[in-house]
Amino acid sequence: MVFKSASLPSPRDSSAGAQRLHDLVSRTEHAQWRDARRIAKDQLGNVRSLLKHAVEHSSFYSEKFKGIGTESLCWEEFQQLPILSRQELKSAKAEIDCESVPGSHGALTNTMTSGSTGSPVEVRATDRVNLQWRCNALRDHLWHQRDASLTMAGIRWRAKNEAMAPKGWDLPNWGDPHSRFYETGKAYFLNSSSSTDAQLAWLLERDPHYLVSHPSNLRALLLLMEEQSKRLKNLVQVRTVGEQVTDELRQLVSRLAGVPLVDAYTSQEIGYMALQCPLHNHYHTLSDSVVFEIVNSEGKPCEVGELGRVVITSLHNFATPLIRYDVGDMAIRGGACDCGRGLPVVEKLAGRVRNMLQLPDGSTRWPNFGFRKIMEVVPLQQFQLVQKDLETIEFHAVVKQKPNTQQESAIRNILIEHLGHPFTIEFCYPSSIPRSANGKFEDFVSLPSCR
Ligand SMILES: [Zn+2]
Repeated sequence: MVFKSASLPSPRDSSAGAQRLHDLVSRTEHAQWRDARRIAKDQLGNVRSLLKHAVEHSSFYSEKFKGIGTESLCWEEFQQLPILSRQELKSAKAEIDCESVPGSHGALTNTMTSGSTGSPVEVRATDRVNLQWRCNALRDHLWHQRDASLTMAGIRWRAKNEAMAPKGWDLPNWGDPHSRFYETGKAYFLNSSSSTDAQLAWLLERDPHYLVSHPSNLRALLLLMEEQSKRLKNLVQVRTVGEQVTDELRQLVSRLAGVPLVDAYTSQEIGYMALQCPLHNHYHTLSDSVVFEIVNSEGKPCEVGELGRVVITSLHNFATPLIRYDVGDMAIRGGACDCGRGLPVVEKLAGRVRNMLQLPDGSTRWPNFGFRKIMEVVPLQQFQLVQKDLETIEFHAVVKQKPNTQQESAIRNILIEHLGHPFTIEFCYPSSIPRSANGKFEDFVSLPSCR
């Protein structure tokens, strides 16, 4: 089945920038229907240009890729290039940066930072990188047929305690890039560091049509709504960014909010990497923006259905080239999609390596911990599992009333059954669970000693 999405209206202003953005969206939206082989061929041309520039203008890559014929490079050769680790990006950042950028890429515009592991990485961007970011934001909008005349609320992490409850920000429109093409409804923004109670009060007052937030924050909000028997009457779609979306969260949104959840895979140092398919819960990688590889423990491309590490090449960043960059996430490769797009499929985004369960036999897996069953034993306001070592898991829970021994025993059995190994379970009941360095909640964390 081919399901064509809506096309972008003409820009509302006559600036060259708006027209350029419009043309890029039209071009990439058109190109997605090509077959996978043609898409890969076009992409290889972009890879060669990036590598050529990096070798000529970055001392790091000229050394690392010495002797590589960038202009005749094939995919097999590309897949054997060394992988860039986050640690390497941090320590060799000055050498990775190119000393010049093509004039057509515009100015070095901003510094994007990511603090998801508590240690920020600085990556430079250009006008060209930002153009691609805005293009993908609009494509997400088109794929999921949002009505821009409606209201949009965002509850997301923001530094410096800006936009805190009870007020947040009330904005006249959705902002760039949407307001350049649509007369949009109002937008509201709240810092996700605000307490969940305050977030819910703020949301109920505004009752938006669209809500975008981080998965863990969304879950806390939904559970509070359920506890207080509250409902957002206008809501038509929930959007998520920044963390792994589990099947359980999708079910929770459907059950408690009665609307679909639409996810996007982005990172601050790269931008959009994949969008959720309009017809399925899986994702399409954005071949115009990134080369999205999923590699197994031997460094080879994963087969369909296989879990591996996500390795990204950012095709338009000629200022700080990220070539075969290990973003620290795991994903499962998918097969072809019946929506008609030739873009590669990611069956599941399985989250960060630090959020994976490590089993004593050396295998790694995304933990399923029977959250719903645990909630039937005792209502949790918040929880987190911390794997201390290969045999011990701490169950941290914020609860109104501490579970009794019988309830603890039931929770222990559920966890052991779902985790697939007879771990020693230790119970802790803190008054709150701290967020990670970038303000996110993590359901499951394995400490470095396990990995
Ligand atoms: Zn699809």
